[in-house]
Order: sequence, then structure tokens, then C-alpha cells
Amino acid sequence: MNSLINAIIIGAGHNGLTCAAYLARAGQSVLVLEAAAEVGGLARNRIVANGEQLSSAAHLLHSLPQDIIKDLQLEKYGLHYAAQHLKTVSLNKNGATIVLNKQLAMGDQLSSADLLGYDRFYLDMQRFSKALLPVLGKVAPEIAIEDWRQKLDLLGLGWSIRKLGTFYMREFLRIIGMNLYDLMDEYIENTQLKAAIAMDALLGSEWGARSMGSVLTYLYRQAGELRNNTGLALPRGGMGTVSQAIAKSARQSGADIRCNSPVKHIIIENNKAVGVVLETGEEIYADTVISNADPKQTFLKLINPDHLGTNFVRQVNNLRAKGKAGKLHLVLSQKPSFTGLDDSLLGERLVIAPGMDDIELAFNPSKYKRYPDSPILEIILPSVRDDSLCQNGQQLLSAVVQYLPYDDSTNEDQNRTAMLRVVIETLEEYAPGISDLIITAELLTPRDIEREFGISGGHWHHVELVFESFLFNRPTPLLTRHATPIDNLLLCGASCHPGGNLMGIAGRNAAQQVLRGEK
Ligand SMILES: Cc1cc2nc3c(=O)[nH]c(=O)nc-3n(C[C@H](O)[C@H](O)[C@H](O)COP(=O)(O)OP(=O)(O)OC[C@H]3O[C@@H](n4cnc5c(N)ncnc54)[C@H](O)[C@@H]3O)c2cc1C
Repeated sequence: MNSLINAIIIGAGHNGLTCAAYLARAGQSVLVLEAAAEVGGLARNRIVANGEQLSSAAHLLHSLPQDIIKDLQLEKYGLHYAAQHLKTVSLNKNGATIVLNKQLAMGDQLSSADLLGYDRFYLDMQRFSKALLPVLGKVAPEIAIEDWRQKLDLLGLGWSIRKLGTFYMREFLRIIGMNLYDLMDEYIENTQLKAAIAMDALLGSEWGARSMGSVLTYLYRQAGELRNNTGLALPRGGMGTVSQAIAKSARQSGADIRCNSPVKHIIIENNKAVGVVLETGEEIYADTVISNADPKQTFLKLINPDHLGTNFVRQVNNLRAKGKAGKLHLVLSQKPSFTGLDDSLLGERLVIAPGMDDIELAFNPSKYKRYPDSPILEIILPSVRDDSLCQNGQQLLSAVVQYLPYDDSTNEDQNRTAMLRVVIETLEEYAPGISDLIITAELLTPRDIEREFGISGGHWHHVELVFESFLFNRPTPLLTRHATPIDNLLLCGASCHPGGNLMGIAGRNAAQQVLRGEK
């Protein structure tokens, strides 16, 4: 069927928007249909009390590559930073904080062996993360295919690992499937330091530090940061401004973006996607349909299963997609004070993860759909760095609360309320008096995130980032390189290689596949 629109993109998450921007820049007519009232998906702002805004789910920018920022002229369209290169500060109830600033670890309780061990660990992990770079930004090459471009990409990865030299290549192959818990034992003794490092591997993941493959997720996160030169950054005005900048860039190139337009199903004729039907009943046709929704939404809700094989439906059903990251938002009447934390560090990334066993103890209950007694937290106070966010001296606190179960019980509301109390009690142990400063408090559980953002399981990466769903197997062997069993239907979201976090790479690569005619 001939249509006037080249591509319909379902979903205006940052990947859908990035895909739209690249396609529109290449002269394609693009229509983005977003279910929510605003663009951005997990990277949009949220109004809390008094109209104050903060980042709704994602709150720290660390992996958006410079080439995408440049190509889409995001700084021209509103991406500005309130802070860059944030340090990581591990809080301690007794005031013994540890500060990580790139290669440097600081803390009175750290022995010289720990300091040297951290230095060695940092340099080794940087070296290994760099080895992953040749494939991080590209469409994942298939392992067995007669295509010269994919062969070159695979060779690039092989060469990059070989280039490490015999010792480090062997070391890379030894550690890549290991768990971070065991690996860090080879370098560092101090458990608080190890726990602070482990946060990068665990946030958003379903697993604990002792789970196999946690080294891979750690390296993956570090590799993402290598493609960006801002370090951990706070976008001025909240994460929503990043998505809005991408949307502006896409619109400027001619893309049409419609919010409040949920897609009800994808129209398929002769095994080809030819358009979509909106919840309103409106039918829109296009040459290509690209889904920024997660695979479960796309294939189990938007497509009649008659178009898909049983084996495929089973694989999609079995995808690991039960999120374990929740989100806490507080409006505070004034700046809180954390025990032992110098005021100058209040605007950094603060973590509550006292030790490796505490991480495991927080993780264990979530395996049995129970909530942790002492949650692991990644906290930022964005208003300390960004005066555009809050008025009258009030402050915003945003925290990822790791290891909340995906709760589909009938007690969900009571459980959320009880957990909110536990999180605030935990904060109180580190920042005595903080409870008295709270004007508004809300906790989003993975199930709330599923409902509010339209993501199955409320998962950070849409599909868990694990060995069986990595590189040429992401998200499953039947769904690689953005292609699907339906012709002219592609995926462009976090479930594609290289996965979640604000990277935009999956969106850009999906656009490239369309432009190459690989659909
Ligand atoms: C609690 C939490 C904290 C996080 N913190 C960080 C962080 O600090 N830094 C970081 O880099 N990453 C973070 N992440 C991960 C990051 O937010 C995601 O990986 C990333 O935003 C995914 O982007 P996406 O564009 O692929 O998908 P999404 O952002 O999920 O966008 C998908 C879009 O599709 C839309 N959609 C779905 N179905 C339909 C339909 N039928 N019709 C129309 N539209 C539809 C949805 O409404 C949504 O807008 C966090 C994630 C979570 C859950």
C-alpha cells in the first residue's frame, strides 16, 4: 500500500524521538504517536507539589553520546547542564563518607591497600570497557551471517579485545562472565567502597552483586560513560529537557509528534506492517512502523498473535522484564544535613549502600516478592545545583530505590505506603531530622512505573540486560538488529542493543536500519 507517511513511530521516549530526528533529517516523513500527554517516556519531568518539577524516572545523564548531541544540535534546542562530572559519595550513618572522583577514592577509613586497589580496579575496568566500544554504538552484528559490514563489526570487537595484549585479553575473557562481588575481592577490602562501586552494575537490574554477569553490566555502564564527556551530569531543568530538546530537533527537521495518541494495534497485511489504529479508532498508514514500546507491549498487546509463531510468542512472554527499581520524590522545606557530609558535597550523587552484604540483604526479599527492610538508594538533590527547579528555599530530593519487587498483589497500596515509611526511616538514619522537612513524599514502585510509563514490568532496560539478552541476542535471538518477524516493523527502544539508559543509540541505529532498507 502506498502511503504519504514514510514512518510511524509508536512512542516518544528518548529513543523514539532520536529515531524520528534521524529519519526526518534524512528527508523521511515521520509521525510519532505518544500515549502520554508529554514526550520523553522514562525521561520526562514530573510535577510534584506546588508545581515544582523534577525528573520522573531517569534523573542522571551519563551515557548520551557526544555524536548524537552534536548531530541533533541538542544544545541549540535546550540541553544545558546544571552540573557535570558529579562525584559519587557513599554515605555512612556514623559520618564516615567515601568519595569517588573518577580514579580517586577518598575516605579516612580506607587503607593504603584499598586506595591502591581501587586505582588498579578503576584502570583495569576502564581498559576493559574500552574494549567493548567498537560494538556499543553500532547495530549488534549477527554471529553467523555472510554480510561484510557485520563481519567487520565482529572483527572490530575481536581486534579490540586482542589489542588488550595477551595478559589483559585473557583477563577480560576470565572476568566477563564473573560476578562483581568476587571480582572486587581481588582488588579491594573495604566493603563500603565496594558497595559504592557496585551501584553502577546493579541499579535497574533484577540481580544482586553476587549474580553472574554483574561484571558485564558494570563494564557496559562504564563503556556508555566513555562515549560522553560530561560524566554524571544533571541536565538543567530536569531530564525532561533532554527529551524536549530531542523532540525540538526532530520537529525542526520536519517530524510530526502527537501526544495523547495511544496506539491500539498495528495493522498487518500479508505479514507486513502497514499502519496503526489509535485508541480513538483513527487509522494511519505508513511504509514502516517502528515501535519504541517494549517487546511485550509490541507483540503481545499491539499485534494479533495469529500473525506470530507460537515459539516466538513464548520467547517474548519469557523475556525477563520485571523491574526492581522504584523512585522516591521528596519536596523538602530546606536543605537536609547528612551526618559527616560537608555541605559542599550535597549536590553530588549520594548513595546509601553500606556494604556488600547489605546489598545482598536488600536484594534477597525481592526474589520472593517482598520489600527490603533497608533499601539501597541513589540520591540526588537536583535543586542544590539547579535554581530553576525550586522556589522559596525548598529543595527536591530524587532517589532510585533499588530492589523493590514487582508487586501484583492485592495489598499493593498498603505495601507502597509501608515501603515509603521504610525509605524515609532509612534516610532519617543518615540525615537526622529530614522527616520533619518533608512537604511532599511519593514513591513509585516498578508496578506504578509500568502503569504510568506504559512499560511492561516497569523495567529500566525494558528487558533485563543479561548474557542471554546481550549484543547479538538482544532482546532475544528472534528479535535482533531492530528487525521483527513482521516485515517493515522494527523496534527502537531500550530492549534493543545496546540497552537502556539515556543513550539514544537504539533509536539512532533503528533509523539507520530503515534508511539502509534493512527492515
Ligand atoms: C526508576 C528508574 C530510574 C532510572 N534512572 C536512570 C538514570 O538516572 N539515568 C539513565 O540514563 N537511565 C535511567 N533509567 C533508564 C532509562 O530511563 C530508560 O532506559 C530509557 O529512558 C528508556 O528509553 P526508551 O526511549 O527506550 O523508552 P521509554 O522511555 O520507556 O519510552 C517508551 C515510550 O513509548 C510510549 N508507548 C508505549 N506504548 C505505547 C502505545 N501503545 N502507544 C503510544 N505510545 C506508547 C510510552 O508512553 C513511552 O513514552 C531509569 C529507569 C527507571 C525505571
